[in-house]
Amino acid sequence: MRPVAYTRADTVETAVRTVGADPGARFIAGGTEVLNLIREGQDAPDRLVDVNALPLRYIEFDGNTLHIGALAKRVHDHPDVLEKFPALAQAGASAASPQVRNMATAAGNLLQRTRCGYYRDRRFPCNRREPGSGCAAIDGINRYNAIFGGSEHCIAVHPSDLAVALTALDAVVHTRSRGGARMIPLAELYRLPGDQPQAETVLAHGEMVTAINVPHKAFASRSHYLKVRDRASFAFALVSVAVAVHLQGDIVSDVRIVLGGVAPRPWRASAAESVLRGERFDDASRRAAGRAAVEGAVPRAHNGFKVTMVEHAVARALSEVEADHG
Ligand code: SF4
Repeated sequence: MRPVAYTRADTVETAVRTVGADPGARFIAGGTEVLNLIREGQDAPDRLVDVNALPLRYIEFDGNTLHIGALAKRVHDHPDVLEKFPALAQAGASAASPQVRNMATAAGNLLQRTRCGYYRDRRFPCNRREPGSGCAAIDGINRYNAIFGGSEHCIAVHPSDLAVALTALDAVVHTRSRGGARMIPLAELYRLPGDQPQAETVLAHGEMVTAINVPHKAFASRSHYLKVRDRASFAFALVSVAVAVHLQGDIVSDVRIVLGGVAPRPWRASAAESVLRGERFDDASRRAAGRAAVEGAVPRAHNGFKVTMVEHAVARALSEVEADHG
């Protein structure tokens, strides 16, 4: 058994200084991901810095922006989220199981690692776990893997539901490190695998997510999250879609369409958005957007079904917006 030192941080400064000074240190909050990774052997930290005492559990809406502290839990239950950011509420409610949702923090959800089965099973080569060892998924069972954004080194998908909805809502992540504070649009937080799949985000070691801010843009209230999965609970998305639509009359003036379960990061379907912008919001334009959403897809041996699934899920999610909000 390996000994692991444990420190409880009472300020953000202490937390980032302690982790930043020790390459073997990790932040821990809800523990739903960090402890899994240790148990499964994907990570072996020598120090855990407990950040649960930090004052980052708030969820507040100031009339323009939703402020979510990194340690906030059950964001989807907050009345302002339910009313003003429905896609976020639906995404949060669809994540994991009730037990995990009670423990998991907002930041931990965004920073969870891929669920690629080969990453989690040390008997198989995996460039993300062990750079240069190969990718067992490319010629293996790849039903759950990416159809967008992969490389010859990795075709893993990002598992977070919240990240998909928050990307569609133009959320911004706030971080702190020993070097100071910065803001990162969520759409820029995750890296594509390229030839370095082990680096999943642009965060430096010891850089802590402290908050997530979500602007209340015109399309936020008219948003929807649709998740397609193998079973109704405790299953990651085969395909998910977050849509947000602003109409002027019946014409689409602004729109976001972001896909989950299909790429190493929330995947913005820009071509589908272009098809809708300036058009009437009707069945024909919604189906055209679905067709455009799958342009450039690269399906593998076992996940070609995702192409058809994305096409229909995009049209369906857009129809659900219409049904929910008129
Ligand atoms: Fe590892 Fe990525 Fe290949 Fe999965 S897809 S085995 S995570 S390198």
